[in-house]
Amino acid sequence: MFRSLHMKLVLIMVLLIVALMTVVGAFLMNSVTVFYLDEFYSDMSTVLTDEQFVRDVTTAEEGETNSPEKIQAILRSYVGPLGVDSRTRNYYVLDGETAACLATSDDTGRQLDVTPNLSSALQGKEGYASDPGASYMDVAVPIQRGGAGYIIYLYDNRQTSQQLSDQLFTLILEALVFGLAISVLLSFLLSKTMIGPIERLTDGVRQVAAGDFSRKIEVGSKDEIGVLTENFNVMARQLRDTLAQVENERNKLDTLFLHMTDGVVAFSHRGAVIHANPAAGRLLGLPVDATTTYDDLFADVAPFYDVLSMDKAPGYLTGSRKMEDRFLELTLAPFDKESPDSGVLVVLHDVTAQRRDEEMRKEFVANVSHELRTPLTNIRAYAETLADSGNELPEKTRNGFFTIILNETDRMTHIVQDLLTLSRFDSGRGELTFAPFSFLAATEQVCQAVKLEAERHNHTLTLRCPKRLPDVVGDRDRVVQVMMNIVSNSIKYTPDGGHIDMKVGRTDTSVWLEVDDDGIGIPAPDRERIFERFYRVDKARSRQSGGTGLGLSIAKEIVDRHHGVLQLVDKDGPGLRIRLELPIGGPGHEG
Ligand code: ADP
Repeated sequence: MFRSLHMKLVLIMVLLIVALMTVVGAFLMNSVTVFYLDEFYSDMSTVLTDEQFVRDVTTAEEGETNSPEKIQAILRSYVGPLGVDSRTRNYYVLDGETAACLATSDDTGRQLDVTPNLSSALQGKEGYASDPGASYMDVAVPIQRGGAGYIIYLYDNRQTSQQLSDQLFTLILEALVFGLAISVLLSFLLSKTMIGPIERLTDGVRQVAAGDFSRKIEVGSKDEIGVLTENFNVMARQLRDTLAQVENERNKLDTLFLHMTDGVVAFSHRGAVIHANPAAGRLLGLPVDATTTYDDLFADVAPFYDVLSMDKAPGYLTGSRKMEDRFLELTLAPFDKESPDSGVLVVLHDVTAQRRDEEMRKEFVANVSHELRTPLTNIRAYAETLADSGNELPEKTRNGFFTIILNETDRMTHIVQDLLTLSRFDSGRGELTFAPFSFLAATEQVCQAVKLEAERHNHTLTLRCPKRLPDVVGDRDRVVQVMMNIVSNSIKYTPDGGHIDMKVGRTDTSVWLEVDDDGIGIPAPDRERIFERFYRVDKARSRQSGGTGLGLSIAKEIVDRHHGVLQLVDKDGPGLRIRLELPIGGPGHEG
């Protein structure tokens, strides 16, 4: 019931009032009693020690009888100063030895008790002792008169003081009730002004705790609660900003984590997956979720607890994995080692492209060496024969040898030129000069140029093209080089008496040339590799026909720089169909 601040405040006020009234009441009532006692003894001693009075009551005339009545008569004349009213206060004239009542103002006939003061008087001493705890006040004074001993005894039953105390008590009770009513009322009013802001603050704190930072608590005062509210608002604002920053960072990290090409898998200290990005599943080729464990994925690379407890530099382990079609490099490291939330992080890096590039580079160097060594060996062999035999060889043979040496030198020059062209493209120096030119005229020029060669092989060469075709933006010489390469290949790789069809056309944004032959074609597994450097389906045949295996890779580089397409097209029947397509507006306008 008293758990709310409101009720506590009421209780405090009530207790305060009760305590205050009790202390004040007790103090007042005690003061009244003490005042009455003091007043009584002061009055009594004033009268009873008064010289006139003492003389009056102690001086007896010669042969005087009936002394008690005389003393009573004197006392009667002092009832005013003595405060004797016969009801609450009375005087008594007692026998000095037996304490028998000889005369009194008390007409109730009350029997007197032997009080300590009376007992003192019986022993001849004045009795003025007061007892605040007693229910009466008395004074007993022994006197001598006419040779006889008497005691003047004054007794007050304290009824007046008791009545006053009772009235005071009632008054205090009334004041208490009244004070209580006021205090309850006041505490309600006070609590409204004091507790209102606290309740608002409590509400705000509750909202912030629930994650709602939108509401600003109104600062209604400049007191401590006002300052607290203001500080709370500042704190809530800072908390909101900090949380927003953290959220922002987390979103960035989440996005990074989600879209990064490297796979990341985090394991708990028990080896269960706690986080994995999509790349991890993709690279590993299997689903990675909460049910997957470290041992399911990387037990072969390093034992889980070796990684988790690793404390030697550099603080991580590396490993690799060969998948069916790719190579992965793995980095395994522990995180939060000292905390109970420790775990292991594995980063998967796909190095397939690097490995393939490396292999291609090695293969390329081996190919170049091989391609250059073959003509060099031939040149050396024929040159040696010529040198050794001198003029012994018939002239015809000698000339034949010279021709071979020249041909091989040409071949080498050809290879070196092609390599230079490629290296220029690779290093970005193979600059092309773009300008509009007639694609149609270029095709006709190529057709014209290879016509004789085609006739030499008894091929039927046809060119089908529309009457009009828009000019294209490109490097004309390079495009003609590409066309020459593909048409020459068709002539080379088609047995004599074959058919070679050149067909030109356009789309909305591009022009194209398709060269179709019914030659030896390319087996399915080799089709996607013919644009690789030095790749030849039949090395002997290619070499025999003067090929270097670099023509199509150069052609592809040129077409790529035009943002065009050079590709093999599926066809029915024997032979090969290859298509060259260029954007009409040049690079950047491919549609
Ligand atoms: P090459 O100088 O050897 O002709 P290319 O790069 O021009 O080199 O061609 C690469 C390989 O592609 C050739 O060696 C050949 O095996 C194959 N090829 C190209 N065109 C044709 C074609 N029209 N028919 C069959 N095979 C072809």
